Order: sequence, then C-alpha cells, then structure tokens
Amino acid sequence: MTRKVSILGSTGSIGCSTVGLIERKPDTFDVVALTGGRNVTRLAKQARALGAEIAVTAFDDCLEPLRDALSGTGIEVAAGEMALCEAAGRPADWVMSAIVGAAGLPPGLKALEQGTTLALANKESLVTAGSLLKSTAAGSGARILPVDSEHSAVFQGLVGEDIETVERVIITASGGAFRDWPMEKLASATLAEASSHPNWDMGKRITIDSASMFNKALEIIETHEFFNIDPDKIEVILHPESLIHALVGFCDGALMAHVGPHDMRHAIGYALNWPERDHLPVERLNLAEIGQFTFHEPDDERYPALAQARWVMEEGGLAGAVFNAAKERALDGFIEERIGFLDMAAVVADVIEIMSGEGLGLAAITLDSVQQADETARMRAGESILRRQR
Ligand code: NAD
Ligand code: MG
Repeated sequence: MTRKVSILGSTGSIGCSTVGLIERKPDTFDVVALTGGRNVTRLAKQARALGAEIAVTAFDDCLEPLRDALSGTGIEVAAGEMALCEAAGRPADWVMSAIVGAAGLPPGLKALEQGTTLALANKESLVTAGSLLKSTAAGSGARILPVDSEHSAVFQGLVGEDIETVERVIITASGGAFRDWPMEKLASATLAEASSHPNWDMGKRITIDSASMFNKALEIIETHEFFNIDPDKIEVILHPESLIHALVGFCDGALMAHVGPHDMRHAIGYALNWPERDHLPVERLNLAEIGQFTFHEPDDERYPALAQARWVMEEGGLAGAVFNAAKERALDGFIEERIGFLDMAAVVADVIEIMSGEGLGLAAITLDSVQQADETARMRAGESILRRQR
C-alpha cells in the first residue's frame, strides 16, 4: 500500500533531502503537496519528478511563473499563506514540516488538525506554540516526530524506556563557524563568515543561528516542549565533531549516546520509516579513523542565547513566541548588515527586557495570541536595531 506524503518547505535544505529519500521509493509514496517560496524552478521540478497533486508557493507574485513552469502537467498550483494552509490540510499519512521560521506554524497546525504524522523540522513552531501544537495533535490523534538531529537522537534513545527514569538529556552543539574565534573578534564577524558551517550543510538562517548558538537555544526549548523534560535536566555540551547528536542519562547512571554522520537524511529517514527502520543512504562511520570524540563546556558569556532560552522556559506562555520573533528580526538585521554579529543577542535582550513585564507567562496560547506576540516582538526588535544600527 502506498503512503500519502506532503512536504512543506520542499525547496529548502531539509525539504530537498526529504524529496531525495522519497524519490528513491516511487512505489511506496504518493505525493500530495509540495510547498516552497521564491525558488519556483526547483519547486516545479520537484513537483514534476514526484508527480505531486499540488505545488504551492508562499508568495503571490510567484504564482504566474509557477503556473508557467507546470503548465500541461495537470499539477494544481496555488500561492499565498491561505493556499499553503489548505494544501497542508489535505489528507496525508505523513507531512514534513520544513518551512523556516515562525511562518511554519499555521500550516503545521493545519496538518496536525487532519490527524497526520507530522515530521517536525520546524522547531520554531514548538518554541512559539508548543502547548497548542501538542493539544491540536492530541485532539485529532496526530503524532509529532522530531527531525532535528538532536531530538531524533533523544527520541531514539528513549525507545522502550520509562521517561520517569530519565535523569538528564544532553544535546550537543558543534559551536558553529566561530567556535575557535577569540571573543574580541566576534563583534566584527561578517555575514559571509557566519554563513558557513564547519560540519553541517544547512539553510542560511540556521547556519548563522548555529554560530550565535540561537539554534541551540531554540533546541533547548524544543527538548523541553517535545519530551516534557524539566529545564534543569537539559544540558548542552560543545562537541566539535558533531557525531554524537545527543545523550540520554538514566537514573542508574547509564548514558545512552546516539552516534551518526552529520547528515540530516538520517533523522529525516528515521521519521519517514518510523516505527520501523529501513536502509538509508548515509555514510557508515569508521570509528578508528575518527579516533576521538571531544567535549567542552559552553561559555555563557560567549553565548548569551543559552541563558535567554532558560528565561523562556522559566517564563513560559508567550515567552517563546517573543524570543523567537525577536531572534528572527535580529537575524534579518544581521543579514541586512545593519547590525553586527554580537548585536543579535543584544537586540533579543532588549526585547526581553521591554516585554518581560507584560505577563507573557500567564497568557493563553492560541494562534492569534502567538501571532500578536510575534508581531509586537518584531516591532520592538526593529526599534532596537534602529538604536544599534551601524
Ligand atoms: P531553508 O532556508 O533551506 O528552507 C526553508 C524552506 O521554507 C524553503 O522551502 C523556503 O522556500 C520555505 N520558506 C521560506 N520562507 C517562507 C515563508 N515565509 N512561508 C512559507 N515558506 C517559506 O531552511 P532549512 O535549513 O531547510 O530549515 C528548515 C527548518 O528545519 C528550520 O526550521 C530549521 O531550523 C530546521 N532544521 C534544519 C536543519 C538543516 O540541516 N537544514 C537541521 C535541523 C532543523
Ligand atoms: Mg539540530
């Protein structure tokens, strides 16, 4: 029997890897929806190759080029956020959520409403609206599977275990592009320098977020939300080789580590094949060649984002939406080369300071309240960027 699948954000880094895995098994999968942004040529090519039912671009002005590229194929085309949500809500057995940023939340929720299995790469939706995502899934009988490599690793480490016996969860961080840079140099780090990762080949935004550790900050919150684990049981360790993705520590002192190559097709494939395992075209590690695994404690002063994540978990409620939106806006400011690398954390700190007295922790989490908090936080971040602009 074939399985119906959709890929939200199919043209991105995670999306393309997912397409690659699905392409290998044409008799196993029926592709319902593929969605992308401005890369219409790639989206059309994927839709043709996979025989998708519908291709959707997030942007209205990309509709005509998409229509042209798919004319005569019988593949439906559409554009805009509403169309994206409609496509995400079409019945499917498995949906990959791989849009980058808070824009992934509404279509992710639509997919959950129809009771699908949602493979979640879009960590931003758990950070901004974790309780809403989980209650929507519980209401429809949907299931959320992690795709972030660390969270897939923890998930695999927990198979057959009682969560009550978990003493701690350790997620690893490579340290990103600047892990060996002296602190004084970081302020003048350029966009080009921040945009290349020593180990992983990823989208531009998450690559920069890895250098600033904002990605790890999101992942601490994601761990808390996904596994319902107390914040004080979640640790981060720097592991430059990026081969151990996470470790789960149990009450008997055992640490179960997940080891694998830095290739997202492993975590994507695990979610695609779950609850079974299937052959995946990823490198088999030669441990003797690798020789050693190294670890270091992350420096809180160097990575203020980590403490900001702790604030989010302590505050709860809309704090995640505020943090993520401020971070996304600060990242825009850095990408536009209006502020420096270290200013990103300073902008987020400004927004936290301004908004932390606003009862964020007490607010109900609805799509509306999350989007409103997101909008306000982006505005405050924009003001902070103006003040700090170079
Ligand atoms: P990417 O930038 O390569 O791709 C993003 C996708 O989202 C593209 O298809 C793009 O067209 C689409 N998109 C962008 N803006 C949009 C909008 N406003 N509305 C709708 N669609 C939009 O990103 P990526 O690196 O593939 O990351 C995707 C998600 O997966 C992110 O949440 C990221 O944190 C997470 N993730 C990525 C990796 C990785 O290795 N790349 C690893 C773990 C988690
Ligand atoms: Mg990760």
